[in-house]
Order: sequence, then C-alpha cells, then structure tokens
Amino acid sequence: MPATQEKKFKKILIANRGEIAVRAIRACRELDIRVGVIYSRADANALPVKLADEAYFLDRESDIDAYLDQELIVDTAVIHHFDAIYPGYGFLAENARFAALCEKHGVTFIGPSSTVLAAMGDKIEAKRIAAGLGIPLVPGTHAECATCEEGKAEAASIGYPVVIKAAGGGGGRGIRVVHEEGAFAKQFAEAQREARLAFDTACVYVEKFIENPRHVEFQILADVYGTIIHLGERDCSVQRRHQKLIEEAPSQVLTVKKRQEIGNLAKKLMKEVKYTGAATVEFLLDSRKNYYFIEVNPRVQVEHGVTELVTGVDIVQWQIRLAQGEALTLKQQDIQIRGYAIECRINAEDPTQDFTVSSGVIEQYLPPGGNGVRICGGMYVGQEISSQFDTLLVKILAWAETREEAVKRMQRALRECVIEGVLTTIPFHLTVLDNKNFLKGEIDTDFITKNKINQQVRKMVSRLKTPRLWNDNLETRRNREIALVAAAVYKSLKEEMGSSGNGGGSAWVQASRTNT
Ligand code: ADP
Ligand code: ADP
Ligand code: MG
Repeated sequence: MPATQEKKFKKILIANRGEIAVRAIRACRELDIRVGVIYSRADANALPVKLADEAYFLDRESDIDAYLDQELIVDTAVIHHFDAIYPGYGFLAENARFAALCEKHGVTFIGPSSTVLAAMGDKIEAKRIAAGLGIPLVPGTHAECATCEEGKAEAASIGYPVVIKAAGGGGGRGIRVVHEEGAFAKQFAEAQREARLAFDTACVYVEKFIENPRHVEFQILADVYGTIIHLGERDCSVQRRHQKLIEEAPSQVLTVKKRQEIGNLAKKLMKEVKYTGAATVEFLLDSRKNYYFIEVNPRVQVEHGVTELVTGVDIVQWQIRLAQGEALTLKQQDIQIRGYAIECRINAEDPTQDFTVSSGVIEQYLPPGGNGVRICGGMYVGQEISSQFDTLLVKILAWAETREEAVKRMQRALRECVIEGVLTTIPFHLTVLDNKNFLKGEIDTDFITKNKINQQVRKMVSRLKTPRLWNDNLETRRNREIALVAAAVYKSLKEEMGSSGNGGGSAWVQASRTNT
C-alpha cells in the first residue's frame, strides 16, 4: 500500500447541469465541502445555480458549448480556487483530454485518471483487456472496422444478425442492428456518421446481436490503494433506442452464486486497469443465463440511486471521498442487498410518438413523495425544455421489501406526480408497470416491442379528454378545480347581482345582461 495520498477538498466545481448537478451539490453539502456550478445562458435560473454556494456563467454562443468548453471550465476552476471538478454523466464525464487538462492544472478530476479513462471510454480497448482476463465477451471483432468491407467480412464470419457499435458510444447512440448483408452498408455509414457527430470519432466495430438479452450491470467502487468492491447489480432491460427507461436492483434472475461470479469478474477487470473511483461494468445476459461483457462506464450512472436504496451506500459521496484519496472503509462482506428498488426516468418525450422530444415551458410541477419514494431532479416551474439537452426531467425511485410492493409504490408515485407544460414518459411507465409480463419479471431489451407497449400507451392517452394530463386521477382533479373556480365566480356574481337588486336567472345570464 502506498503512503497515504489523502487530501481534503475545500471547494468542488460541478461541470454539469440538471439532475446530476443537484445530486452532486447535495453530496458536497453533506460532506461540508463548498460547492460551485457553471451554467449557460438558458440555465441562469436553474436549480443548481440557486442551490450552489457559487455559480459561474460561461458566456458561449450555444448553451451546450458552455458545458463542453474544457479550457474555460478548467480556467474557472483555477481562478476561483476549486480543488476538484465533478463531471457527472454526459458532457465531459468520459473525456480523457479533459481529465488530463484538469491533472495538468492541479485540479482533481473526480473520476479515474486520464489514462484509465481513455482505455475504459473506448469500448474496443475495454473489450481487449477483458478478453485477456478470460471474461466472456459478445462474439465479434474487438477491433475497429475502418471500412464497410472490413465490417461486412466480420459480420459474415460472426453470422447475422450483428450490431455495429461506436467505440466511443454512449446513451444508446451509434448502435445499429443489422439483420442481413443487404442492409449492412447503409447501417454502417449511419453508425459512422452518428459516431462522428456525437463522439468526435467515426471508429466503429461489429459484434454478434444477442437476441432478447437482459441488461445487467455491476456497480464498482475502487480506492487508490487497490481495494475494490462491487455493490451488486442493476437490471436495466426496459429500454427504448438502446437507452434505459426503467432500472431495478437487484436483478431477479441472478442467484447469489452468479452475482458473486460476475461481480468478481467485474472487480478483476477494474483491478487490471488500476481503476479508481466509481464505475459500472455492463453485461448482457441471454435466456440461458450466459453473460457477455459489453462495456465499462467510467463515471456515475444515471441509475446509481437504485443501488443506493438497496445497499445504503452513497455512491456520489464515495466518488468524492475516493478522489480525495480516502481508503474504502466498506468491505465486500459489508455489502448487503436489502429489499427492492425501481427507478423510472421521467423524460420530456411523447411516448405516443416514438419518444420524440416534447419542448415547452414547465407550467406546473408537483413531485410525489411519501414513504419509500425518492425524487432526483433538477427541474423547476418556468424551465424551458428544448431538444438541445438530454430530455431527462426527473427520476422517480421507489423502494420496498419486495418487487411487488416497490411496483405498487411506484404506481402510486407516478399517479401523484404533476408535470404540466410538456408531455412526459409517465403514461409509458404506468403502462409498463401494469403489464403482466413486467409484473412476472419477464423483461428483456426487446420488452417494449414484444409487448406492444407503444400501442397500449396510445390507447391509454387517447381515452383521456385532456391528453396533456396523462391520467384520469389528474383529469378528475383538474375538473374539480375548474368546477370550484366556476362555483366561486358564480357565487360572487350572484352576491353582486343580489346587492344591486338586479332581477332573477342564473349569474351567467345576469352577467350577460349587465354587459349589454
Ligand atoms: P447511463 O449509461 O448512466 O445509464 P445514459 O446512457 O442514459 O445513462 O446516458 C446519460 C447521459 O449521458 C445521456 O445524456 C447520454 O447522451 C450521455 N452520455 C452517455 N455516454 C456518453 C458518452 N460516451 N459521451 C458523451 N455523452 C454520453
Ligand atoms: P451505450 O454505450 O450506448 O450504453 P452499450 O454497449 O452499453 O452502449 O449498449 C446499449 C444497449 O444496446 C444494451 O443495453 C443493449 O440493449 C443493446 N446492445 C448493445 N450491444 C448489443 C448486442 N451485442 N446484442 C444485443 N443488444 C445489444
Ligand atoms: Mg451502456
């Protein structure tokens, strides 16, 4: 064990926005660390700006550039004496150049070192290292396919269907499923184009398409002294466009033995690369429970909260503590999984129109609460939702002793939640949580298509008289509110008419008489 490397952060700058910025502010507060945020023009009134101790406006032409300008962010940190930068997820969280820039300027990047980030942020490199350790991989190239011909040759040797994937990919982008050779060239070009646009590199590779797998991922914490633990797994199989919408912990299909086996492999991989901080090691699990490593996310994951609920471990606090050089005080045998947790991502999307972005201004927001419900979000009334940022508005999490109870609790929370001004994925979640296959735990990454969820959501929404209010509880409540207002107007008009001794008839008739 090296000599102690501990340092105590006095100030942390959060290089992110929305939900994860608020989450990190809360963790800093609980650790008595002063916290600052950066923000773009559109985010001047945002929640993180209001909650942080310090806020720095980054004046860039586009809003997104404010969160991507590496030099400006590091300069802000240096000038204002921040010890560390918290990158969250998305934006610069997996950017090795940014991590190196932080290191160069003596600001701690809260994450792994830039070298480890470069290796783990590259799916091909991660697969190469995993292969060397005997970790089962999805069959495929494990190397870049620079040309369409190379890709086609690889696909032919693996056998269709295959997936073309961006090496630097994330958020489900740069992934194309190809069922037959005739469609390969077009999909290859599209995957390359999307990868270049989203991740600055057109590097793609080809692997076997695993039919109807579950997505199971392991949460890792690692300190600088070589201690590594896992916090069990999450099942994130309910997805649209290869991106997660519902996540649960623990998985219903892993036995204690299997959890230990896959968890140990995930730790082995992290040990090999001398990983430090929090990471997630992702696997696909086929119907015969064969598992295949797919990638490492060297950052905090959107769905980290479900693991926090079942283990009681604060992952974001640990990211900060580990970056300070603290030793892990948790041992693998200390990690007990208790109960069941579910998360629903509430996105500003129209679930009846293939999850297209729903832009607008948040007019009303009443988050749910109560026993076993956790809300993580950065949204606020008056917030303008546009397609330039991720569509995540808020995450609703529910915990209970059993999955059945957690689902019930989530249904109750979803029905309580009021968001007006944009359409949201709430009707989608209510539909899934009512689906008998979901309730039986029969989920895989094709769940939405297989269960015709989109059709059912459309049917559910079309039954509503006010489709922008997504459930009948809300509709009844809204109608009741309208009725109360009408009654109050009626009463006051009646009184007014009464006092002026102005004839009979209804207040409306009288009011019209007064106006003529
Ligand atoms: P998670 O992997 O934590 O489940 P998502 O895949 O939904 O979360 O990604 C969360 C956010 O981070 C999305 O806005 C997504 O576009 C972004 N993101 C994920 N991976 C990358 C990446 N490699 N580069 C840039 N942005 C990314
Ligand atoms: P991202 O970096 O965008 O999260 P991943 O490699 O983690 O990309 O894959 C995201 C999702 O795409 C997986 O959860 C799964 O649903 C699907 N997927 C990826 N690779 C395969 C594959 N080889 N076979 C079947 N589905 C896959
Ligand atoms: Mg992934």
